[in-house]
Order: sequence, then C-alpha cells, then structure tokens
Amino acid sequence: MIHLEYVDRAHSVQTAPVVCMHCDSPTCAEVCPADAIKKTADGVVQTARKPRCIACNNCVLACPFGVPKMKTEFKLMMKCDMCYDRTSEGLKPMCATVCPSQALFFGTRNEIETLRPRSAPTNRFQFGGQTITTRVNMMTPRSGRSEYIDVTAAMNESGTGKQISLNVLMEGMYQEEE
Ligand code: SF4
Ligand code: SF4
Repeated sequence: MIHLEYVDRAHSVQTAPVVCMHCDSPTCAEVCPADAIKKTADGVVQTARKPRCIACNNCVLACPFGVPKMKTEFKLMMKCDMCYDRTSEGLKPMCATVCPSQALFFGTRNEIETLRPRSAPTNRFQFGGQTITTRVNMMTPRSGRSEYIDVTAAMNESGTGKQISLNVLMEGMYQEEE
C-alpha cells in the first residue's frame, strides 16, 4: 500500500517511497462523502471501509501527498494504514521491517534524532496558504533550506514522452555542516 515516485526522472532512476503521512486533519477523510475513512484514537488514518466506499475518487484527488489509490477492480480506495494489524499490536509496519537502509524507520522522534544527527524530522508542510501537520515525519538536512516545489507552475509545463519536470529549487539543500 505504498508506491514509489521518481525523484528526478530526467536524470536519475532514483525513487522514493511515498507512504501515508497520517495527517492530523486528514483531507482525504474530510472530503469523503460516505464517511469511509476513519482516524483511530492513536492518530492512524485508516484505509477506506469497504461497505462505505462508493469509489468516487474525491480522496484520491484531494490528498496533498498523492497517497490514496483507486482500486477499480474492487471499486475501493486503498492506502497505507501503517500496517494497523501489526502496529496496533506493537510490531513495526512491514515497509520499515524490510527496508535494508532504514530509509523507512519506525520508532520515536528521539531514536531517529540519535540515529541521524545531521537530519531533522519535520512534520509541518506548507501547501499554498495551508499548513498541514502529520503524524509521520520526513527527514530533512539540518543545514539546508526548505525545499520549494511550484506545483501550479508544473501543471502548465508540457511533458516530453513519460518525462515530467517540477520546478524544484534544491540549491543549498545538501550542504555539509560547518
Ligand atoms: S497523507 Fe493523504 S491519505 Fe494520508 S492522511 Fe493525509 S490526506 Fe489522508
Ligand atoms: S473513494 Fe471512497 S474513501 Fe475516497 S472519498 Fe470516495 S467514498 Fe470516500
């Protein structure tokens, strides 16, 4: 229930996994007309309840991180639910269990800050005038500035074959600490 995105397909085969960020105010659930997406008391945003989902795609279009996927063969939206069957029993989600480089890590904020002192966990994301806070954190270089992607401008760019480009301002992101 996670998918891979190309980081910069024009220049590299590098991919990055995209997991549900488990937003504090999940847009997917807010736009669901069938109340099919529930958030549990521990902050995990569940995948759509099958008896309720009417496969309208609202959540697919509304999620700022592009997470929900419509499974047309089942007429059901499915997404990462943080392996709730496992994590609710104290086990790690499968993705973090099998990741050989710990790009995906499941643990406390203190643990990851100790493991990766040059990076900082962040869970605040700006989409236009809207700030979204999430349960899942993304590691960002401590010495770099925030990445900025002009999504609106990218929508007007014309693709070449399967290649798309985003106006990603990376300058200064990977500077070594002094
Ligand atoms: S990342 Fe998308 S799918 Fe996950 S909780 Fe937030 S809005 Fe919903
Ligand atoms: S696709 Fe299903 S879960 Fe998503 S908004 Fe529509 S009814 Fe809700």
